[in-house]
Amino acid sequence: MYDIAIIGAGIIGTFIARELSRYNLDIVILEKDNDISSGATKANTGIVHAGYDAKPDTKMAYFNVKGNPMFDKVCEELDVTFKRKGSLVLGFNEEDMETIEELYERGKKNKVPNLEIIDRERIEELEPNIGKDVVRALYAPTAGIISPWELAIGLAENAMDNGAELMLNTEVKDIESMDNGYKIKTNEKEIEAKYIINCAGVYADEISRMVGDNSFKITPRSGQYYLLDKNAGRIMNTVVFQCPRKFGKGVVISPTAHGNIIVGPDNEISPNKDATETTGYRLEMIKQTAQKSIDGIPFNKNITNFTGIRAEPDTGDFIIEESKVAKGFINVGGIKSPGLTSSPAIAEYVVEIVKNISAGLEEKKDFNPRRRKVIRFAELSNEEKAELIKKDPSYGKIICRCETVTEGEIIDCINRNAGATTVDGVKRRTKAGFGRCQGGFCMPRVMEILARELNKDMTDIVKDKTGSYILTGETKEIENEEK
Ligand SMILES: Cc1cc2nc3c(=O)[nH]c(=O)nc-3n(C[C@H](O)[C@H](O)[C@H](O)COP(=O)(O)OP(=O)(O)OC[C@H]3O[C@@H](n4cnc5c(N)ncnc54)[C@H](O)[C@@H]3O)c2cc1C
Repeated sequence: MYDIAIIGAGIIGTFIARELSRYNLDIVILEKDNDISSGATKANTGIVHAGYDAKPDTKMAYFNVKGNPMFDKVCEELDVTFKRKGSLVLGFNEEDMETIEELYERGKKNKVPNLEIIDRERIEELEPNIGKDVVRALYAPTAGIISPWELAIGLAENAMDNGAELMLNTEVKDIESMDNGYKIKTNEKEIEAKYIINCAGVYADEISRMVGDNSFKITPRSGQYYLLDKNAGRIMNTVVFQCPRKFGKGVVISPTAHGNIIVGPDNEISPNKDATETTGYRLEMIKQTAQKSIDGIPFNKNITNFTGIRAEPDTGDFIIEESKVAKGFINVGGIKSPGLTSSPAIAEYVVEIVKNISAGLEEKKDFNPRRRKVIRFAELSNEEKAELIKKDPSYGKIICRCETVTEGEIIDCINRNAGATTVDGVKRRTKAGFGRCQGGFCMPRVMEILARELNKDMTDIVKDKTGSYILTGETKEIENEEK
C-alpha cells in the first residue's frame, strides 16, 4: 500500500509530489496520459503573475502572491528557465483608467510589491513598439515568464530521483473506500493508498465524485493562441495585458521563456473537456485585439496555434482541502489561472494538510533538491561545445537545425527519470521540433532515436497522445497488402 497517491501529473500534481518527496513516504503519481504535463500545464500563457488581478481575501490572491517569489529558488534547483520581465496592463480610455486604478488598489491589498501606474513616456522606455493609443499602464516588475511544462517535467524527475513512482497511461476509473485508505481502480491495475490527492485538472470534479464528494463542478473554458517564431521575439520586452474583462485577463502579448512571442488567449466555454482544436474566427479576433497593444506584431511569423482548457470551478475560487465527506482524500481542484503561479505555494500548503491529517511526517535525511543539469548545446560557448563533443560525439550531431538540438541532448532526455517517450515529449524537453519548421526536418530522426533508446519499433512511436501514430508500416508492405 502506498502512503500517498497523487492523481494527475500537471504542475499541481508534480509540485506536490516533489514537496512530499522530502519526507519518508511511499508516493505514486497516476497519470492517464503518456507524459507529464498533458493538460492545462502544457497549454497556457506561461506567466508568473504579480498578483494584482485576483480579488483580495481569495485563495487565488493568497497563493498567487505567495507563489510568485518562490520561483527563483525552485527554478535554480531544477535548472528551469525563468525570467522576471515585468508586466504592463494597458489603458486606452477613461474606462480603462478606472480599471487600472482598481487593479492598483487590489494589488496593494494583496501585498504585491513595487506596483506603479506609469505614463506613456515610461511605457515607451519599456516597450518602444507600444500601440499608438495607449495612454497609461499598470506596471508590475515582479511578473515573470517560464516554460510551464519544463518545470512540471523537472519537478516529476526530481520527485522520482527522491523515490516517488510515476505511472503513466494509468487512468483512474473508480475509487473504493477501505478501512485504512482507498482502493483506486485504473485501466491498468488496482492501487491501494492511505491518502489520495486529487490534482486531475478539468476532471477533478469527476474524481471527487468517485468518493461521494459532489461539492464542486468544473466547467471547461478554452483559450486559443498564436506562437510566433523566435526572430519575432525582439519586438517587445515585457508581458503586455489589456484590461481584464468579465472572463479572464484578456488578450496577452508576451515573450516566452524560449524567446518566441505568444499571443492569446481568448475565453469561451468549451464543448467538452478535451476540445483543443483551434478555430479561424477566434484566432482572427485575437489578432485584431492584440494589434491595439503592440505595433507591427509579425503574424506572418506564426509557427503554430494551440488551445488550452481552463478548469473553471463553480465555487469561484481554488478548492484546496481535505474532503468533508471522504477522510484522507484531498481535493486540489478548480486550479485555473493563476494556478501555475500559485503552484509552489499550493504544494507547500498541501504538505501542511497531509502533516495535519496524518501522524506527522518524517523528513528524509538524503533529500536532494537538485536535478542533474540539462545540457543545452545551443547555449554553450564554442570551447565548451568542442570539449563536450570530444567526451561524447553524439553532441556533435545536430538533429534539429532550427533550434540546434543535438543527438546527445535527445538521448539524455529519454533516459532520465520521467523521460520522453513520444516525439512531442522530446520537443518539450529539448526544443527539437519547436522551431520554424515544426519538426518537418527532424521528426524522422527523433523517431529513430526514440525507437532505438526505448527498444521499440518505429511504428510504435507516437507524436503526442496515445494513438497519434505517425508511421503505419513500410510503403512496399502496404502496397503488397493492397494487391
Ligand atoms: C488558456 C490558459 C492560460 C493560462 N495562463 C496562465 C498563466 O499565464 N499563469 C498562470 O499562473 N496560470 C495560467 N493558467 C492556469 C494554469 O495553466 C493551470 O492553473 C495549471 O496548469 C493547472 O494545473 P493542474 O495540474 O491542476 O492541471 P493539468 O495541467 O490539467 O493536470 C491535470 C492532469 O490530470 C490528469 N488526469 C485527469 N483525469 C485523470 C484520471 N482519471 N486519471 C489519471 N490522470 C488524470 C490529466 O491528464 C492531466 O495531466 C492558464 C490556463 C489556461 C487554460
